[in-house]
Amino acid sequence: MRYRGRDLGGEGRVHLVMESTLTARDRVGVQDFVLLENYTSEAAFIENLRRRFGENLIYTYIGSVLVSVNPNKDLEIYSKAHMERYRGVSFYEISPHIYAVSDNTYRAMRTERRDQCILISGESGAGKTEVSKKILQYYATTCPVTDHLSTLRDRLLQSNPVLEAFGNAKTLRNDNSSRFGKYMDVQFDFRGAPIGGHILNYLLEKSRVVHQNHGERNFHIFYQLLEGGEQDLLSKLGLERNAQKYQYLVKGCCPRVSSINDKNDWRTVRKALTVIGFHEDEVEDLLNIIASVLHLGNTQFGEGKNGENQITTEPQLKYLSKLLGVDGAALREALTHKKITAKGEEMISPLSFEQAVAARDALAKAVYGRTFTWLVVKINQSLAFKDDVYNSSKGSSSVIGLLDIYGFEVFQHNSFEQFCINYCNEKLQQLFIELTLKSEQEEYEAEGITWEPVKYFDNKIICDLVEGKHKGLISILDEECLRPGEPSDISFLEKLEDTLGGHAHFVTHKLSNGKTRKAVSREEFKLIHYAGEVNYSVNGFLDKNKDLLYRNLKESDMSPLWRFDEALVRHQVKYLGLMENLRVRRAGFAYRRHYETFLQRYKSLCPRTWPNWQGRLADGVATLVQHLGYKPEEYKLGKTKIFIRFPKTLFSTEDSLEAR
Ligand code: ADP
Ligand code: MG
Repeated sequence: MRYRGRDLGGEGRVHLVMESTLTARDRVGVQDFVLLENYTSEAAFIENLRRRFGENLIYTYIGSVLVSVNPNKDLEIYSKAHMERYRGVSFYEISPHIYAVSDNTYRAMRTERRDQCILISGESGAGKTEVSKKILQYYATTCPVTDHLSTLRDRLLQSNPVLEAFGNAKTLRNDNSSRFGKYMDVQFDFRGAPIGGHILNYLLEKSRVVHQNHGERNFHIFYQLLEGGEQDLLSKLGLERNAQKYQYLVKGCCPRVSSINDKNDWRTVRKALTVIGFHEDEVEDLLNIIASVLHLGNTQFGEGKNGENQITTEPQLKYLSKLLGVDGAALREALTHKKITAKGEEMISPLSFEQAVAARDALAKAVYGRTFTWLVVKINQSLAFKDDVYNSSKGSSSVIGLLDIYGFEVFQHNSFEQFCINYCNEKLQQLFIELTLKSEQEEYEAEGITWEPVKYFDNKIICDLVEGKHKGLISILDEECLRPGEPSDISFLEKLEDTLGGHAHFVTHKLSNGKTRKAVSREEFKLIHYAGEVNYSVNGFLDKNKDLLYRNLKESDMSPLWRFDEALVRHQVKYLGLMENLRVRRAGFAYRRHYETFLQRYKSLCPRTWPNWQGRLADGVATLVQHLGYKPEEYKLGKTKIFIRFPKTLFSTEDSLEAR
């Protein structure tokens, strides 16, 4: 829901807002919340978003933070002509847009020669992934590219459909929900041309491979293959063109989604794999694995003649051994037995029916998870900066990082996966607070600028609750997983109660007076997150944390309504701390520069500072800004920097001219 380029809040910011008449302003609202008259009122804040949304204006600034409301329909604002309009233009000279953030980040990287990062956050379905793609498209279109670098540009763009096919799925909140976190670096050379890229993937939601909640789907690739794969290919893989036939695809009861065309997507993905540089035999391996996951899901167990647990679905076993290239007998043994080491001796013991089902599912998840990791490794190899292709840029490149993780999630039933996702979002919120509210206010204090501190909720207390050494939730979980004896999900919950009971953000069914709380069941704990309260069921926490895979298995190794959802908007405005952000921005200074840099750059504008200022730097800067017509209340002199509340266009225009 908001974007921030690192350092964008810093130097070189200018507020020049193109508001023509009051009537227009009434209709479209203000394009920077800093200009909102009633800036302390949440209702006015939301009304401003609503007005703009009604006029198809989905972007609004809070200073250098961009707030975006998902339109859920295609707007004509992402054309090449739009991109061109934002090139080299300063933030406030043109209406707010993700391209303005992209362009300013790019220019900041080039002029300051420092790495930059655009941080994207918001709840699931807010539009984070879409915007990260738009940023990438902006760079791919507007940055200088030579012939041999155009291959890289195509690969960068094509990595998205591939990763989305394998890592995205339909959920209740988003038909194309990213089920993994992604941090992507784009590397630029000294001329600002993209020369390489790297993707870091986090926390793929592997459990989706074997189970989906009602109304949700498995990862897109399964349906794409079944819908789009040529008949020959499906026959070779032993698959039927019918998702209903596969146990791993029927749990959510929705093989088809109206907004998704699996057949077309299949073509896009196949082409993208080729562009990225996958060989045909690598694609074959990939599809063999996808097919084998479906066969694993249809592998059933039953009682044999002697009461032993055995595989009852021979064709599946046959295909599995063929597709995975594993001996059939070994696979049969691996799916029905486990190998354990006791007192230095290896023993093989049969698995019960439930254990065999769990082992099968664990194998499917592991195979899929590793395939995903392999896919990312391959993509990274193809995006890697190749010295020999372009060695003149060696040593002088910078990167722009894009972070797109999955958003905060609250379902009716929340488990380990939601716990991990929501913890990631806590960390992201902490980073946002650090970068905007905290560092901004600390800088004013350090520079000796008179400042009335703005209070905000610091979610560090929740991060500590989850990640604290020894006493944090994750430490307790890890400890419980390793504890000898019979640790269980319930014993883990009891440990949590013993250690964390009484913490302001942790709640279980037990009340301090010995009575029970109805809102939390006996298998749950509740965390009071920055973004709301979530009940987590502890069932499966230990196994999921251990990512259990028996040893012999290891060895065999896009609501499409144009609607302003006020409740959803209000919720995010509140929890993302946007009002606090606005208050800091409103009271703060949009532009700041070290005295020396400022004087050096602008001394020619004043006869008294040109060609050289002989006295104290601060006095020279004061002389210069007074000469430029600034009133005393419009700027402040800190210990080492000048701060200007709303600088004139002059500075920004020069900055942008210089940058290109
Ligand atoms: P998130 O990554 O935050 O969960 P997505 O980026 O996947 O959300 O967006 C969810 C859906 O909303 C997209 O599939 C798309 O249909 C729609 N959407 C998001 N951003 C835009 C946009 N800028 N313009 C049009 N539709 C959008
Ligand atoms: Mg996403």
